[in-house]
Amino acid sequence: MSLLQSNGPYRFEQKVEELESILDDVSYDIQLLKTYHHIEDSSQYLPDNDNGWFKVTDDGKVLTLNELFLEVFGYSRESSLSFRKKMLIELIPDHLQQSFQAQWETAIQACRNGNGRDTVIKTNGLHRTGYEIPIAITVASDDTKRLFVSVKDVSYRKEIEKALLASRENYRVLAETATDAIIQIKNDFIIHFANSAVKKIFAYKKEEVENRNIGILFPASRYKNYKKLFSKYFFIDDIHRKDTGLQSSIEVLGLRKDGEVLPLEISFGNSSGVGDKRILTCIIRDIAFRKKAERRLKYLAYHDKLTSLGNRDRLSENLDQVLQEMQRDKSRKAALLFLDLDGFKKVNDSLGHEMGDIILKETARRLSDCLRSEDQVYRIQMEDIYRLGGDEFTLLLPHIRRSEDAAIVATRIIDRILEPFMIKGYGSITNVNMGVSIGIALIPDDGADKNTLLRNADTAMYNAKEQGNTYMFFTREMNNRALDRLMMEEGLRSSLGSGDFSVHYQPIVDENGTIKALEALIRWTHPEMGFIPPDRFIGIAEDTRLILPIGKWVMETACRSLKKLHLLGNSDLYMSINISTLQLEREDLAANVKAILEKFKLDPTSLTLELTETGVMTYPETAIRKMKLLLEVNKGLRIAIDDFGTGYSSLSYLSKFPVKNLKIDKSFVGNMDDSNNIKIINSILSLGQNLGLNIIAEGVEEKSQLEYLAKRGCHYFQGYYFYKPLRFDDLVEELRNHR
Ligand code: C2E
Ligand code: CA
Ligand code: CA
Repeated sequence: MSLLQSNGPYRFEQKVEELESILDDVSYDIQLLKTYHHIEDSSQYLPDNDNGWFKVTDDGKVLTLNELFLEVFGYSRESSLSFRKKMLIELIPDHLQQSFQAQWETAIQACRNGNGRDTVIKTNGLHRTGYEIPIAITVASDDTKRLFVSVKDVSYRKEIEKALLASRENYRVLAETATDAIIQIKNDFIIHFANSAVKKIFAYKKEEVENRNIGILFPASRYKNYKKLFSKYFFIDDIHRKDTGLQSSIEVLGLRKDGEVLPLEISFGNSSGVGDKRILTCIIRDIAFRKKAERRLKYLAYHDKLTSLGNRDRLSENLDQVLQEMQRDKSRKAALLFLDLDGFKKVNDSLGHEMGDIILKETARRLSDCLRSEDQVYRIQMEDIYRLGGDEFTLLLPHIRRSEDAAIVATRIIDRILEPFMIKGYGSITNVNMGVSIGIALIPDDGADKNTLLRNADTAMYNAKEQGNTYMFFTREMNNRALDRLMMEEGLRSSLGSGDFSVHYQPIVDENGTIKALEALIRWTHPEMGFIPPDRFIGIAEDTRLILPIGKWVMETACRSLKKLHLLGNSDLYMSINISTLQLEREDLAANVKAILEKFKLDPTSLTLELTETGVMTYPETAIRKMKLLLEVNKGLRIAIDDFGTGYSSLSYLSKFPVKNLKIDKSFVGNMDDSNNIKIINSILSLGQNLGLNIIAEGVEEKSQLEYLAKRGCHYFQGYYFYKPLRFDDLVEELRNHR
């Protein structure tokens, strides 16, 4: 209301708001706005510009007028006749009439005199509704001194109306350019607006859907539910949706004109009106493409790229599902099989990753086809086979009758994997022999939850692995062992850097019992578990890679001790240190050794590194490379092959190793009654002599052993017959007496 009464300057936005709010009250039908630009072509009207104009007699009697003139005052075209002969002054509010009259006369006078062109009278007009509106009346004359009078509504109303029109047009363009279908429905679910994009999505022309129920766009079976949802969106405003748990958009199935069903996403906006005025705007998007992409992503997320088998996440989900189903069916049995290829690492390292990949793919193929074949006792689906990474595969048997079924499947797999893998490559066909170890956990006997089952199947596999090429069912006893291991792992971690570790030194002597060297041997006393011998924890430290920090610590400690011994006058002693294969594999071993030697100002000649025969024989070529690097970086360093004789290595390799020392394993020395052992000892001794190696016998406990070995040319001895491994202080004491 205030708009029409006021003639002061207004903020534009404020006006728009106000105008919108009074649209109803002043029956300002938006449609009417359009007629502004539609001027009737009639000879009694002069060509129009933006203003209303009229012809008047000199005393202000209206003769003719145009449509816009009527608009300014809020009258319809039909009432134009009643204006004729009306006095202009009647359109001016009472309280302004006097001043208007004065200005009018001055203006007319000026025109008549020819010097009053474009006199503007600013006053208020009386709108049909009774409100005053600010107007400007311009009185002008041409050379013939004819009067032209025009009237203009100088409130912002018109500009606002134009802005509204423009904004409507904008919306229309927007709706038409949108690639999403836009549909508006009223509370009877009848579509009252649709944009052209409905054609693209639904194959209907917009005219075909307008004035029809929105239900035609959805499969009838679904629409019942959708309708309920739409109602919610209809009545619950945007701002309240969150509170009521409504999503900003929903995914539904749509129905095209040609009968095709397609996935859609609909987002909603509703107007704030009530009753008939309330409108729900649905923005509808075809998400078939997105759904496809999502499916593809999901596939990728749940499958192993190399073999296309399911991956760990998929196993996890499927296992959850089986467990859930088993909750309902208490008599059901299932099994989880953990498979690990035997010897895969060796193939992968020696033949290369490409070959490794081929073997893995072939393994996947063998698994799926040997388990699928019809005539077998147990058939399983491709979907039940998973690859967890590396050479670890898993099988979920979702239904078994008895535990033997799982054993039958396991046997079948083992047989199939044992067949040689014929691998083409590098221009020839290579035959590769592989094996597989399988652990079986029965569901629900061996675990009612996913993690326990996975752990137990893994434990069983780990036990099977010790034998190789076999399967094992999980047992409680395995679990205890696994638990032990777990405790040790944790113990090792907590003991790192805590002072629970120490190093003992066992002298290595010559034939006369003179101490030549020392072997550093680690000792571990855990605060709760007590003393734990290295044979029990070194393997675990290797599996967990904790051997790396532990090994480094041993080397530092042993070198520090050696330096002290040198300073105490035993400068000809050297130190022998056990190095795990894992340490040898590391590129930085050579540099680490060098750094430690430099730190204690020790010469490389005073250090020997012991590598076990089985360790270096697993990947001999790699080992040779690493050994050479070690020697290159630390000139004068010596390498000993430890536990020699246990690895059954082809002796020819030994000549290729850049080693100086050979240690005969104590199992041969300790059991010299066995003629086989004697043979082995003899051949090691003669081989070593031929290669010019120093031979050290370990585990010498008796005089007879010493005598036999010395007679055959063994140079050095280590064992309880001479010394047990000693604490550093005891060693210092011993050396003092020794001299
Ligand atoms: P190894 O390298 O063969 O060490 C010799 C083992 O034989 C030591 O056992 C030693 O105490 C024992 N021994 C010495 N003389 C005799 C004897 O006359 N009779 C008998 N029966 N045994 C004797 P220990 O200290 O228990 O170490 C066992 C194994 O643990 C070592 O065997 C070595 O492989 C490993 N180990 C020990 N310390 C370390 C270390 O710092 N790093 C690594 N990587 N391995 C270590
Ligand atoms: Ca050793
Ligand atoms: Ca040894």
